[in-house]
Amino acid sequence: MISKKLEEAINLQINRELFSEYYYLSMASYFSATGLSGFENFFIVQVAEERSHAMKMYRFLNERGGRVFLKEIEAPKTEFSSPLEVFELAYAHEKLVSGMINGIMDLAIQENDHAARRHFDWFVEEQVEEEATMETILNKLKLVKGEGHGLLMLDNELAQRVFTPPAK
Ligand code: MG
Repeated sequence: MISKKLEEAINLQINRELFSEYYYLSMASYFSATGLSGFENFFIVQVAEERSHAMKMYRFLNERGGRVFLKEIEAPKTEFSSPLEVFELAYAHEKLVSGMINGIMDLAIQENDHAARRHFDWFVEEQVEEEATMETILNKLKLVKGEGHGLLMLDNELAQRVFTPPAK
């Protein structure tokens, strides 16, 4: 049985993962409107990833005798000035999420909840990947100054991204 404290923390994190889904869908929509369909695809795949993160936590909480209580999802930003701005925000957002995951891990350690530790290990590693993904694209955008032929090449590259569901 999971503690009330961890149950609350995981519920809050489920909300943040669903917010991430919403935030990235908003970014996808911006790219759709600007005609950069590869960038749009990148964020649509990211949307699926965020949903899978929320569902992974949902299943864990239920398996451990906790309950999922859904709350209101904050409205995301809808206007962006450039692809560069979008990736600056996405990278900053993933760093924020890493901090939240670390907070849950701290709590799991305090409470000696080994099952939660093992479960959230996966998320700790996942966040390393998430930050690296956003940072890499941000750096490439900086290299091409967010425009021209370089931007279109990057758009072609991001059109290739496909969603691979995480194991379990
Ligand atoms: Mg996530």
